[in-house]
Amino acid sequence: MDTKRCVACKEEILKDALKCKHCLQIQTKAANLQNKPAFNYLLIVLLGAFIIWIAYYIVSISMKEPLEPAFEISSSALNVTMGDEKLNVRCIGDITNPTFKRWSDFSLQAIFKNADGKVIDVLYAEPDVTIYPRFSFKGIVSGEGSAAEYEYHTCELSVINADDY
Ligand SMILES: [Zn+2]
Repeated sequence: MDTKRCVACKEEILKDALKCKHCLQIQTKAANLQNKPAFNYLLIVLLGAFIIWIAYYIVSISMKEPLEPAFEISSSALNVTMGDEKLNVRCIGDITNPTFKRWSDFSLQAIFKNADGKVIDVLYAEPDVTIYPRFSFKGIVSGEGSAAEYEYHTCELSVINADDY
């Protein structure tokens, strides 16, 4: 009768056996592979690399970064409209979070300037959003303008008082 050796315990078993009668090991190619030392070492190395990567990710998330470089803000667009005897001024820009952290509870500041670069109004907004890592959102600050419509020339959007968690 044709026999072979068990992939696990190396006892002699029938060639067609799907399971070893000595150690109950399933006789598959995968099982055979698992019993090769090289395969085990590769598995350990991959597992080690994976654990190191997870640890690095957790550390990078938990590290505090200074606020200043934490956001990228596209050139802000100014919008001025007249409504109900009031001048509505609006500053809109795309705010991107280039970090690996989530940011929340922040304020947006918009500085409105005239053609000479003189500050006319400074308005704030507190958007109830969380900016997830690598994501961006449209930041809008709007309010009542204090100067004449023609005075408004540019606006600059920035993020202030952000908390990361
Ligand atoms: Zn066996």
